[in-house]
Amino acid sequence: MRAIMFTDWKTFPTLEEAEKPTPGPGEVLLKVAGAGACHSDVAVFHDMDGSTAPPQLVPPFILGHENSGWVEEVGPGVTGIKTGAAYLVYGPIGCGHCPACSRGQDTYCQNVAEMPYLASGLGRNGGMAEYMTVPARNLVPLEDADPIAAAPLSDAGLTPYHAIKLALPKLQGGGKTALVIGLGGLGQLAVQILTAITGATVIATDMKPEAMKRASEFGAVTVPSGDDQVAAIRELTAGRGVDAVFDFVGITNTIELAMKTAAVRGRVTVVGIAGGAYEWGFYTAPYEAELLSTYWGTLEELHEVVALYRAGKITPDIEIFDIDDALSAYKKLEAGEIAGRAVVAPNGRG
Ligand code: NAD
Ligand code: ZN
Ligand code: ZN
Repeated sequence: MRAIMFTDWKTFPTLEEAEKPTPGPGEVLLKVAGAGACHSDVAVFHDMDGSTAPPQLVPPFILGHENSGWVEEVGPGVTGIKTGAAYLVYGPIGCGHCPACSRGQDTYCQNVAEMPYLASGLGRNGGMAEYMTVPARNLVPLEDADPIAAAPLSDAGLTPYHAIKLALPKLQGGGKTALVIGLGGLGQLAVQILTAITGATVIATDMKPEAMKRASEFGAVTVPSGDDQVAAIRELTAGRGVDAVFDFVGITNTIELAMKTAAVRGRVTVVGIAGGAYEWGFYTAPYEAELLSTYWGTLEELHEVVALYRAGKITPDIEIFDIDDALSAYKKLEAGEIAGRAVVAPNGRG
């Protein structure tokens, strides 16, 4: 089968012929419907190396940590999974029995040091291939929903959903505001999720005018970057500041923007992994403001994200690529030329 392989640190991935996998005990073989190209993949193959990356990420492996597919075959011991049915994949794979995994939060597995990989497509072979194997526990049924369009939900949907759910106490009640910085794959879905599950006014910003235009179609009030950006955003909050800021870029500038626009008792969640740093100070940070990072989300939350999708409340904005063209999807993502999410459909466009 054809697969997009991450072969070595600081090396652009390659399209290769790989062996079709066999499902082990408790696993299923998926015929991949869609595999989203996430900006974190660019960090993996472009920025990281053996000294900075977690030991579970060692190449080579097949990329693609945001996947959906049809069950082709079930491995020994798997019951209750329908062959031929469409499922979304929960990417993270922890030990399965520690307190974090027990609540469906494999991202924070307490036994990660003993795990051979972090997730499908992050150390273990992922979905940028015609077939992949996944533990049956990691499947979320899509029923009659389009699995190719659904693929981004498993990361670009789940990651903002988790960050937003944790911030809900700040967004409950009338007159609340949220700010989304960075309107790519994750940010566009963040705007939709905020609109779907909170009553907050959603403010959004990106360097790309077309990304802001798309966000405004989803209900956001947009503010371009520029010297007066902080003042313009604060004005939209009647001077009070933003109740919950979500930074999907994560450079020093955007974390500073987030902290300068946050309200007293506000919350800033940094999701972007660009490696920015922020110097906290008693007199510069708003009183009782929280600053935290989040990583992906939980299996239970992925069921909730799929429910929103099936109810028509969120719709990933996708550009579909054939597997033979998957490398150009990564090139365009690196160059900032993807609007929404690039999804590779290794078995055709359905
Ligand atoms: P993307 O490339 O699709 O989108 C990034 C967007 O940010 C683009 O629209 C770009 O124009 C915009 N942008 C870049 N610099 C900006 C700036 N200075 N100000 C405003 N906008 C700016 O990326 P994505 O796949 O949506 O991922 C976003 C970030 O989240 C990446 O850093 C990615 O690695 C990270 N990520 C984190 C997690 C997590 O669990 N924490 C999960 C997935 C992705
Ligand atoms: Zn990702
Ligand atoms: Zn665990």
